[in-house]
Amino acid sequence: MYINPYENLSGGEWYKTNFHTHAGTGPNTCGANPIDIVLKEYKTLGYNAICISNHDLYTDTISYDTDGKLFMIQGVEYSNDPHMLTIGVKRSLHQLSHQDAINATLEDGGFTILCHPNWIRKEYWKWDDVDKLTGYLGIEVINMLIYRLSGSGLATDLWDHLLTSGKLVFGFGNDDFHTISDAGRSCNYIYSTERSFDGIKRAVSSGCFTASTGLILKYLDLKDDIITVKAAYPKNTYINKFTYKFITDGGKLSSISYGEEAVFKLNDEKYARVEVMGENGATLFTQPVYNPEFLKKA
Ligand SMILES: [Zn+2]
Ligand SMILES: [Zn+2]
Repeated sequence: MYINPYENLSGGEWYKTNFHTHAGTGPNTCGANPIDIVLKEYKTLGYNAICISNHDLYTDTISYDTDGKLFMIQGVEYSNDPHMLTIGVKRSLHQLSHQDAINATLEDGGFTILCHPNWIRKEYWKWDDVDKLTGYLGIEVINMLIYRLSGSGLATDLWDHLLTSGKLVFGFGNDDFHTISDAGRSCNYIYSTERSFDGIKRAVSSGCFTASTGLILKYLDLKDDIITVKAAYPKNTYINKFTYKFITDGGKLSSISYGEEAVFKLNDEKYARVEVMGENGATLFTQPVYNPEFLKKA
């Protein structure tokens, strides 16, 4: 009855990915840092894939994938308010309305992520407007840049609103890189069987990824409506216990526990997603386990 996006974790690899990076647009712009400097930084931080997503400007970065370390995803930040990441497109769609830009992104074989939903104020992205949109894949549940601007970089409120209203929308974690100190504060761990845009797109479209500020998913199993989940730090450490929260319909905290793994029995909920926290505050957001009779793609 329920669908578990993490059911088939075999034959692939986790791609540490940032979809939201400004670079290479010259002095006094959001992308003031040169592309090669920014990519070097992300390589050092262990990323496997990155998108340079400048404001209403396509920056062709295909030729930067030289040593097989950092896969270059193409994309643009559509920057008429409110902003969206049009991923997998090689042109700016800013002359179009939001809905038309989402549709054009789909036509180009890409996908759209709504950006920083609580920048400056709660509902920078107005919920009434989001409710009317169709065809986008997800929202930035974490946008770390916003924590040094204003508003909130967290958008679990909009996420739970959409999931509860029956929209299968995935949660992304992006740096929204502007300066060097923005690098590596959050990421998406994407489980792809292929080092290609199609592979990454397939994985995110099925929800087989997490949004993270410093934890990885070891497993999330679903059997007889029982979820068993375990997180870890990405590098070797003796720390093996975490705080696990299970969030269900309406953003309700249905269970919280501390230990090596956590177990939750679904009981007619439309969805359940897991937030895991480590002792230093690093957080992992899983995509929802969901009832497909209720949750449909936006
Ligand atoms: Zn933006
Ligand atoms: Zn941005």
